[in-house]
Amino acid sequence: MNAPYVPPEVPQDALLAERRQALLQALGAILPAACLLHEREDTTPYECDGLAAHRRIPLAVALPETESQVQRILHACHELGIAVVPRGAGTGLAGSAMPIADGLVLSLAKFKKILNVDPYARTATVQPGVRNIAISEAAATYGLYYAPDPSSQIACTIGGNVAENSGGVHCLKYGLTVHNILRVRAVTMTGEIVEFGSLGPDVAGLDLLGVFIGSEGMFAVVTEVTVKLIPKPQAAQVIMASFDDVEKGGNAVAAIIAAGIIPAGLEMMDKPATRAVEEFVHAGYDLEAQAILLCESDGTPEEVAEEIMRTSQVLKASGATRIQVSRSESERLKFWSGRKNAFPAAGRISPDYYCMDGTIPRRHIGTLLRRIGEMEQRYRLRCINVFHAGDGNMHPLILFNGNDADEWHRAEAFGAEILETCVELGGTITGEHGVGIEKINSMCVQFSAAERDAFFAVKRAFDPVGLLNPDKAIPTRARCAEYGKMHVRGGLLPHPDLPRF
Ligand SMILES: Cc1cc2nc3c(=O)[nH]c(=O)nc-3n(C[C@H](O)[C@H](O)[C@H](O)COP(=O)(O)OP(=O)(O)OC[C@H]3O[C@@H](n4cnc5c(N)ncnc54)[C@H](O)[C@@H]3O)c2cc1C
Repeated sequence: MNAPYVPPEVPQDALLAERRQALLQALGAILPAACLLHEREDTTPYECDGLAAHRRIPLAVALPETESQVQRILHACHELGIAVVPRGAGTGLAGSAMPIADGLVLSLAKFKKILNVDPYARTATVQPGVRNIAISEAAATYGLYYAPDPSSQIACTIGGNVAENSGGVHCLKYGLTVHNILRVRAVTMTGEIVEFGSLGPDVAGLDLLGVFIGSEGMFAVVTEVTVKLIPKPQAAQVIMASFDDVEKGGNAVAAIIAAGIIPAGLEMMDKPATRAVEEFVHAGYDLEAQAILLCESDGTPEEVAEEIMRTSQVLKASGATRIQVSRSESERLKFWSGRKNAFPAAGRISPDYYCMDGTIPRRHIGTLLRRIGEMEQRYRLRCINVFHAGDGNMHPLILFNGNDADEWHRAEAFGAEILETCVELGGTITGEHGVGIEKINSMCVQFSAAERDAFFAVKRAFDPVGLLNPDKAIPTRARCAEYGKMHVRGGLLPHPDLPRF
């Protein structure tokens, strides 16, 4: 009797080399040599996005210049069974653009043309690699701008913004990316061109634009975007209000919205955050306050004056200890410079920081801050808090030293507990940064198995084989089962009686 055939064991490295060879051969026929990177020193800059604690080197990086090249690359990878991770500027904070070790990174960096600005329709059609701020710069000649303004807007791309449904300071009044995009053109994993949305206010058939925006590069590769533009407001002023108690500051936020005022921006920082920022940019913040609120009004000069007056009244009634209104454009920008530089300021006072992105109902801001204070003691790590208070989107920045593995593990567990507290308070595990790999375990806490299966079903409708950014955003049942077994919350291990190996 013949012995059953046992294939020889192929070492992992040899398999990778074989896949790389097949990939380079296929892509070499599509792209000029300068648009295909595969040497280690060329692919290393792509090993992570803004979540630098997680890194992987891809097989290769493709930098196509035309939509037809994108189609052919995706088709080739589909034939070879090679996973693809689309990439914009790599500023994402959730690891959504982190490569897959035996996959391709598809960078849209060369797609940076502004195709059209139409001042009559108030739209701009741009390629996905155009930076967020470049759209407003191009529209400025017509007195128009693109409203969603992530703090990373000088670097991040509109393709990344669409994939993450990015927000910013002005999104409270003007909406997130999803509210400011009319149409997206994209290429699926099989190389097919698809379009979502339309230039008009409605589309025929199912409107899948909302499903597509925020899909973290898992459904299709964006090749063209049409955005809405709005007129630049004639005037803007910002109020800086101090509070001697963070809970009072949180309640003031809820009171402003309850009074029917929708400010152009409504941001909050706690004392450790203002201190870190003040040493860095000297924004003129009140360092005695336990928390400060920045509240912007925009519109005609009359509208601004009226809203500033009404908001000041609400702030006083909510217990503000000091109210200062910007008296000039340069002072307004100075007040904002502190908030806009909060992340780099955290980088100055700690070797590393871990930026969380949970959302809670506004009325619970004070409660969450108190709970974070308790966690600081338990995890023995400092945390500074900045947030888009108007929409309840919190950005606690956990300070740690990445060279100390124990500190990093504590920082990750601290972050996960913050997100789960957000869910407990009726909020969500992400406000604007996406899930990526960072919050994939927390998805097990936010959504049931049936809901996660439904997400996979939508993913399969766009990408049946599951090759486009496959291991991001939606956790498998096995991952959630594993997380449930291993997850330690508040220092308490679930089922401590069970043996663990
Ligand atoms: C200092 C700092 C401040 C920040 N502030 C904010 C903020 O205020 N608000 C906010 O929302 N975010 C913020 N971010 C996060 C980040 O800038 C946004 O998520 C941004 O949208 C990412 O854009 P990107 O071009 O860098 O995309 P990447 O990081 O390259 O990619 C992000 C995701 O988009 C996908 N993707 C990129 N291009 C395409 C494409 N053409 N087609 C399909 N998928 C694509 C990727 O696969 C990935 O899933 C900040 C980041 C930093 C570093």
